[in-house]
This record gives sequence, C-alpha cells and structure tokens, in this order.
Amino acid sequence: MKTEHLAWPFFDDTHRALARSLVDWCGDALGGEPHDGDVDAQCRSLVRRLGDAGWLRHAVAGRTHGGAAEAIDTRAICLLRETLAWHHGLADFAFAMQGLGSGAISLQGTAGQRARYLPRVARGEAIAAFALSEPQAGSDVAAMQCAARDDGDAYVLDGEKTWISNGGIADFYVVFARTGEAAGSRGITALIVDAGTPGFEIAERIEVVAPHPLARLRFVGCRVPKAQRIGEPGEGFKVAMRTLDVFRTSVAAAALGFGRRALHEGLRRAATRPMFGQTLGDFQLTQARLAQMATTIDAAALLTYRAAWQRDQGRTITREAAMAKMAATEGAQQVIDAAVQLWGGAGVVHGNVVESLYREIRALRIYEGATEVQQLIIGRDLLKEAAA
Ligand SMILES: Cc1cc2nc3c(=O)[nH]c(=O)nc-3n(C[C@H](O)[C@H](O)[C@H](O)COP(=O)(O)OP(=O)(O)OC[C@H]3O[C@@H](n4cnc5c(N)ncnc54)[C@H](O)[C@@H]3O)c2cc1C
Repeated sequence: MKTEHLAWPFFDDTHRALARSLVDWCGDALGGEPHDGDVDAQCRSLVRRLGDAGWLRHAVAGRTHGGAAEAIDTRAICLLRETLAWHHGLADFAFAMQGLGSGAISLQGTAGQRARYLPRVARGEAIAAFALSEPQAGSDVAAMQCAARDDGDAYVLDGEKTWISNGGIADFYVVFARTGEAAGSRGITALIVDAGTPGFEIAERIEVVAPHPLARLRFVGCRVPKAQRIGEPGEGFKVAMRTLDVFRTSVAAAALGFGRRALHEGLRRAATRPMFGQTLGDFQLTQARLAQMATTIDAAALLTYRAAWQRDQGRTITREAAMAKMAATEGAQQVIDAAVQLWGGAGVVHGNVVESLYREIRALRIYEGATEVQQLIIGRDLLKEAAA
C-alpha cells in the first residue's frame, strides 16, 4: 500500500507513524485472512486481534479508559479505516463498529458508563453496536417508533431496530428510542442495552452482498435502568448526530481504502495483461481510465482529510463530512467498477480482490446517510450561509 499522502499537511508525525505501523501489521496479520467463511467467528476474532494489537485504543476516548488519547482523533480513525479497508473489508468493519457502537459513550457517557464499557471495547473484549434505524425510519430518522416508556428507575423499551451491524454478536447496543419530550427528533433518548437483557431478542439475521453480522432487533417490555441513559432525556438525536459526525467522515476514509486498492489492482492488471501484441496499459483508453481513477481518489482523499483535520481543530464539519462521504463513496464505486472492467472476466470471479471490493463498496453509499441525504445537508448548509 502506498503512503505518499501521509506527507500532506493535514497530519502530525504521530499520524504518519501510526499509519506506517498499521500497514506493516496488516501485511503480517491480515495477509492470509480469508475473505469469506463464518462471518460471526471471523468478526469476533478480528475484534480480538485488533484489540490485542492496540488498534482499538483509537476507537475510544480517554486514556484512563484504554483510549490512545483524551479525545477522539478523527484523523487517526480515518487513517486506520483507510488502511484496514485496503487490506480487508471485514477488518475495517470490525474496527469501525467498535468506534461507532461506543462513540456515544466516549462523547457523552457518564463516568460509570465510560469505565464499564470503554476499556473492554478498547481491548476487543466487548463488541459494540449502534441501533438507530428502523423498518420505517432509515433516512427519515425522526419517524422512529421504537418507544422507551419512563417507569420509575427504568425505561421500558418496545419496538424494533433494523440493519444493525454486529446485531447478533454484540455485547451491548446503543439504542435510540422515542421518549416523547417533544415531537420529531427532539423526543428521542439514547440508552445502552446489554445483550441478554430480558425482553430484548434478535428477531432476524440479515444477509447482505458483502457479508457482515447484521440483524433486526426486537424489544418487548425490555427494562433498561435509567443509569444506562446517555445524555439528557430527549437529547438522543443530538447524541446520534455527534457520533455520526465523526464516523461519517470515517466512512469516506473506508471508501478511500477500497478505491485505492482497486486502483492498485487495476494498475497491476494494466501493466501485465498481454493484448493485441502489447499490454492493456499501452492503450490510451486504458491510460485515460487510470487517470480518472487516480484523480477521483485524490479528490476524495483531500475532502476526507480536510474534514477529519477540521474536526480535530474543534470546528463544525457537518458540510465537510457530508461532502467527503458523498465524494469518497460515489467516487470509490466508479473506481472499483473501472478496476473490474480492466480485469475483464476475471474481475467478476468470486474471490478476485476487485470482485470483493465491488460488493464491499455498495452499502457505503446508503448507510450513515445515503448520498441524497448528504446532498440535502450540503445544499441546505450553502443556502443558510448565503442567507446569513
Ligand atoms: C450494510 C448496512 C449496515 C447498516 N448498519 C447500520 C447500523 O449499524 N445501525 C443503524 O442504525 N443503521 C444501519 N444501517 C441502516 C442505514 O443507515 C439505512 O439503510 C439508511 O439510513 C437508509 O435507510 P433505509 O434503508 O430505510 O432507506 P430509505 O430511507 O427508504 O431510503 C431509500 C433511498 O431513498 C433515497 N433518499 C433518501 N432520502 C431522500 C430524499 N430526501 N430525497 C430523495 N431521495 C432520498 C436514497 O437513495 C435512499 O437510499 C445499515 C444499512 C446497511 C445497508
């Protein structure tokens, strides 16, 4: 994996050293990792290995709770995701979900919650999940129906969540439910629900094009102690959005890793495939395709690391994160498609790296806000600025 972009001014030397050592680790630890098999077992093992190697320390905040730094370092998370995605989609997923699933606790958890969950997440001993989406509330989060009724010292959860990554293998879930303080997005509260809590069950496991643990969750009269609430009642939407601001940028970084790998594989093919007495790369049509792929990747990388750098300066990145996510995921889809085209028939054979990338990239254009949602965020922000 090439690392020239580490010279960019967005990074500190600690980021550069981190990314270089992860490249070495991935080569050793993930080189022989299969791209299919028992996805639950593989995911559990990857979480454990990422924890043992210390990489998950970057997914949580607070040194006393096992974190690598006091605050979440967005650039570190992005570099880690980009590198892991280059090597292995499921390794990236395992890392990302530890961060997304525990992000609300890192950002707004009580001292007790942080002490109870974050060290185990950082060591890879507890698997985390983030449960926001519902069958009728995906892009339109405020249409959420899953309810948490106030009942003395506990909330009583009733309803469903779907498309929940790590559903079925997670040890705890950060669940967003309607508590009704106000209509729409202002009446939602965040709760930590441990696996095995009575009244909580996995209703269905869901299989997707690039296999990851994924499930629909069901809550029936599920009592969750009030001590498990993150933030204030009715503030859950803000908790979710603050968490997504970090991890949306990191989705762009993962797309970048997939895209860079596709360019690497495309170049390898172009340089070696004999054709019409020359090689594929000798044709100008191929050179134009490669030029487009490389330019798309660099543009996405600049947007991604601008957003990450800006957040680490303590600035708002709603527009920048949306631009990064949209450009990187849409761009990576095009780059990967071009790599499959360069590989010809071999590009669609199960087990070829570009075939696996083709499946890995697709969901990134949908989750954590579909591309259309990012367009709306950017467009509205531009109009607000123009009217100010
Ligand atoms: C593999 C995978 C993993 C996921 N993991 C998680 C998870 O861990 N936790 C979690 O809470 N959720 C998760 N999700 C859910 C994900 O966030 C939702 O799928 C996503 O928000 C879209 O919601 P939806 O599927 O209900 O699609 P819908 O909301 O029905 O949207 C369908 C399509 O409509 C279009 N669209 C949306 N808004 C507009 C608009 N305003 N104007 C025009 N077109 C629009 C978009 O193209 C969108 O793809 C995951 C999803 C997938 C596929």
